Amino acid sequence: MHQRLLERLAQIEGRLHHVEQDRRRTRNPLAADWQDQASVRQNDEVLDELATEERQQAEAIRAALQRMDDGTYGTCLSCGEPIALNRLAALPYAVRCVPCATQAEQRRQP
Ligand SMILES: [Zn+2]
Repeated sequence: MHQRLLERLAQIEGRLHHVEQDRRRTRNPLAADWQDQASVRQNDEVLDELATEERQQAEAIRAALQRMDDGTYGTCLSCGEPIALNRLAALPYAVRCVPCATQAEQRRQP
């Protein structure tokens, strides 16, 4: 599991690196006409959104690796019960068991 998370993190960081390179390319001053600038800005927004998601995921994975070191990995943050293995397999950086995650979701959406 630890190895899988490390691989996933490396993957995400690779993609983030890629997105940042793309952004630098789209800032190319040669694309100076108005129409191009508008599409460059739009593209930047999409890339920003992607990068934000990737960064959040990278954060979550780093936190999961930290919890593995602490020995708290796989324990629900809310109720302290072990998180089901099939949930961890699907979402290796899950911090809550299914019932607690469902409750947290419901609280967020009144
Ligand atoms: Zn729980």
